[in-house]
This record gives sequence, structure tokens and C-alpha cells, in this order.
Amino acid sequence: MTFEFYYVTQQKTSSFPAQNRRGRRQPQRRQHHRYPQSIKAGVLKIIPLGGMEEVGRNMTVFEYGDDIVILDMGLQFPEEDMPGIDFIIPNISYLKGKEKNIRGVIFSHGHLDHIGAAPILLKELGYPPIIGRDLTIALVKKRLEDYEEKSIKNLKVIRINSTEDRMNLGQFRIGFFNVEHSIMDAIGVILNTPSGTIIHPGDWTMEKNPRNHLPITYNHLANLPRPKILMLESLGATDLRQSITTEEEMYANLEKLITEATGKVIIATFSSQIRRIGHILEFASQIGKQVALDGYSMKINVEIAKELGYIKVPKKTLISVKDLHKYPENKIIVLCTGAQGEGNAVLSRIMTGEHKYIKIRKQDTIVFSSSVIPGNERTIQRLKDSLYRQCDNVIHNDIMDVHTSGHSNAESIKEIIRQIKPDYFLPVYANHFFLKEAAKLAIQIGFPRDKIFVLDNGSILEFHGQQAPRINAKKTDASYVFVDGLGVGDIGQIVLRDRQMMAGDGMFVVIAIIDSQTGKVKNSPDIISRGFIYMRESKELLAEVRKKVRQIVEETTMAGHPINWTYVKDNIRDKIGKFLYNKTQRRPMVLPVVIEV
Ligand SMILES: [Zn+2]
Repeated sequence: MTFEFYYVTQQKTSSFPAQNRRGRRQPQRRQHHRYPQSIKAGVLKIIPLGGMEEVGRNMTVFEYGDDIVILDMGLQFPEEDMPGIDFIIPNISYLKGKEKNIRGVIFSHGHLDHIGAAPILLKELGYPPIIGRDLTIALVKKRLEDYEEKSIKNLKVIRINSTEDRMNLGQFRIGFFNVEHSIMDAIGVILNTPSGTIIHPGDWTMEKNPRNHLPITYNHLANLPRPKILMLESLGATDLRQSITTEEEMYANLEKLITEATGKVIIATFSSQIRRIGHILEFASQIGKQVALDGYSMKINVEIAKELGYIKVPKKTLISVKDLHKYPENKIIVLCTGAQGEGNAVLSRIMTGEHKYIKIRKQDTIVFSSSVIPGNERTIQRLKDSLYRQCDNVIHNDIMDVHTSGHSNAESIKEIIRQIKPDYFLPVYANHFFLKEAAKLAIQIGFPRDKIFVLDNGSILEFHGQQAPRINAKKTDASYVFVDGLGVGDIGQIVLRDRQMMAGDGMFVVIAIIDSQTGKVKNSPDIISRGFIYMRESKELLAEVRKKVRQIVEETTMAGHPINWTYVKDNIRDKIGKFLYNKTQRRPMVLPVVIEV
């Protein structure tokens, strides 16, 4: 297959890339002369459906003519004000009716904020082809299998064998490049159209001293056809450290801790840190310690990585948590999940003493080989407090470099912009404030302000050939789609508000039997309450409520025949609500149940 990227016939935009920091003009590349197949440019649209206002829910739609290519389908974990919600997925209203135009879904890597929504969204979109490297695809498949048995038989997979692979997806010409990230098989994507070339590293970092390969640079991307649009994950925009911990330093620290530990070592890390887990397994085998893995996702990921040949699992080293007691404490390492303080994860269960096989002792060493995902700060602080009470050696990145982040710092963001020399800069894949900070970094190194776009979820950015790009005045619906149990999108703001109300002040149910002839309450109204007051100690209040309910009903039914039952219920709700507030300064959800006899 002959494969050339499209070049725009004439490119007026020349600003940052043509000028280096000292203001010296650099010779313009005029590659379009070498490629006569330039064609008239149509409109290229970039539509982020998630990932612009939060960490997670990453998903971007690229549209050119009748062709759509999607990058990533991630999930977002719920915020504290979303009780009961399992997770949130991108809103795909924009794609409704356009399913037949979707040429492919590329997954940049296997983290949940990039693949987590795949089972639901791929199904809804009629299973368009998916594109990714081996580990990423394996993790997508596992996710599908967990969600719905046998659903993987619907998958059409296009495997990326190497970064040299090129493919046409409709009019999109797709290329790839290597990136460094905290999970294996992460890949950067080039989406080339006659209207411009998008460069998207997915999640990335610049590792200055990686193990087993040379540091990755991005200079070669500067030669891609213009206009070059860099969409850059910017989670590290506020990380102002001059240098990031190298993998070499991190491994050296971990190895020292493991070697010198006099008790057992518990290392909590992300289950997707497959390379690190593999490394610890090998190191343990070298020094004669045993390793037990705990946490569903960690075991699954290690199994998948082992099958793909990505890590070696020394046979005698890996043991079951059930067998931990058979070995001396100073000979065991536990690798587990839960470093973000997730309530039901392994580390939390160890912390609360609920873990069947692992108990903390003072002389143990507990290592957080992980970063704090923005939003989880307070939970992790509580977890650390509790662990510090129980153990003398709790190690985390504030005191020793036991984790390298998968995300670049501010310096690297500037560096990658200098290397790629894009014409347009779109910071992406983080909360809004990170995106604004990344924009500032670009401006600091001389990037023109008017060529930076900070989009929202649902924004539509359009590139019209040689004209300046513009943000469409209309946004597409990118509102939350909540997943709760088996329900997708059926929980809306109203249900959520009810849950918040019940979580805040509880609920109060009034059951009244009303004689439809007389309009009077028969017997005494029943009251059920949860989360509002302790009923046994509130007898007086409840007696007053009962009296009040009788009064309200009689006043309301006196007005005429036949009785307006909705009016009766509304009256009970409003008046009892007000009465309870006056007495308690709380606002429980009042639910009147009226039974007519
Ligand atoms: Zn990632």
C-alpha cells in the first residue's frame, strides 16, 4: 500500500514553528512541492466528548466529511456528591445517527480513563473496528468480557504491530509514534487529513533515564504536514519540579527498601503498573523473597501481561496470599491495589484489619508506589494517618522517590512543544485549570496566544483548510451519563438530587389512611423514618407530627368533594416538611403515602 500523508496546498500559518526562541527565522519546509497529491481541504472537526473538564472520561471525536475516527473511550470515577454512582461515561449524543460513519476507535493505552467505557459505548455504536497495541486490546477485551459475556465476539480488531504501521480510516491517514507512560503499549497517534494533522500522544511523560530503551524524543514529528495541531495531555502542567524522578532512581529506592526490610513489605501501586510489578517480581526472585499479589485487577493484569510475554513471573517467587504465613515475615512482599484509598480495595482492608491473611505489624514496611489522583487527596491522607498509627515504616513519594509519574511536568510540556513545533496547541485530558496552566506554559516559550485553544467537553473546533480555525458557537451535549449497576444513563440529575437529599437529612415517610366519605384520617398515621431522627428518642415530635397530619388532611379535604388526592399529598409534604424544619432545622425527604378507604 502506498501511503503518504496529505499536505495542505498552501499554508499561511507560520508563527511559532518558523521562529525559534531567539527570534531567528528558520527555513520553511516546503514539502507540498514534493507531494503533488494535495487535495482541496474540507472541514476537520475536533470534538472532545470528555476529558476536558476532569481527569478521566477521555474521548475525542475527529470528523472529516463523512468519516469519523474516535480516540479513547474512558470512564470517570464519581465525585463525592454523586452517591451510588459507579462511574460516568462520555455522552455520545453527537454520534447518534452517524454510527455508519465511524471508521475506527483508536485506544491510546489500557488505563481505565481511556478504555473503561468501551464495553458500553462500542455496543451502542454497533461495534466499529478498534485499533490498539496488544496489551491495550487485551485489556479492552477483558473489560468487555467482565461487562457482558461473549460480547468480544463482536469485536473487529486492527492490531498495531509497530509505530511504523500506517492505515487509512476513511479519509483519515493514521500514523503512530512511541510515547513513555506508566503502562506498557501506550502509543501516540497521528491523524492526518487534507485540512491538518493532529498529533496526540495520549498520556505521556518524558523519562530521562528509562530502563531497557533510549529516552524518547519527538523531534521527528516536527516534519509532519502542516498545520500541525498538537493535542497534549496536560495533567503535569502545575508540576514545577525541574527534574522528575527517573525510573533508575525509583527502582534503586524500591530495591533498597525491599532488601533492608526487617518485616514484610507491602507495596501498594496501580494495577496497571505492569512493568514495575514485573520488575519487583524479578528482583524478589534474585534476593530470595516471595511475592503475593492481591487485588482482582492486579492479578488479572499480571496474568494478561504474562500471557503476552511482557513480564516474566519466576515460578517459585509468586505465592498465594493464603500461603503467606508459611514464610518468615522478612521474606515476603505483598503487591496490592488500593493506594488511592478506595474503600473496598486491598490496602483499605489491610488498614482496617478486615483482611483475612494480612495483618500490619510495627516493623513492616508499607510503600505507596503511586501518585495521588487529583480528587483523592483527603481519602489518601486518612489512609496514611491510619497506617502510620499501625506501622513505623510508611514510605510514600513525599519522603522518598518510590514512584515515577506517568505524566510529564511543566518543563517537559514546554520541551515537547519545542520539539514538535505545532501550529496550534490544544491542552487536553485534565481539569480545566490544568489546561489553562498548560496554555500559560506554551505562551511562556513564545507560542502565540491566538493559536491556543482550551476547549470544553462538547466544544466543536473546526479547521477550514487555510482559514483560521474557529470554535463553533454550538456545543454538542456532553453532559454526564451515569452508570449505576446495570443502568446506563437512566439516573439523571433529579435522582441524584434525591440521593443527595436523603444522604444529607434522611427520609420521612407518612402513611395516612383516609376515609373517602368523611375525609378524615382513620387510626393514627404511620411514620417510617431513616437517617433523620432516632425514632425511639423522638416520641414527642412524632406525636406532634401525627396530630399535624390529621389537621392538614381535614383542612384539605373540607374544601370539597370529590377529594383531590394529589392536593392532599402535596399539602402533607409541604406542611410536614416545614414543621420538621422548624423543630429540627433539618430537611429530610418527606414522602406522603395516602391510602383511601
Ligand atoms: Zn494513562
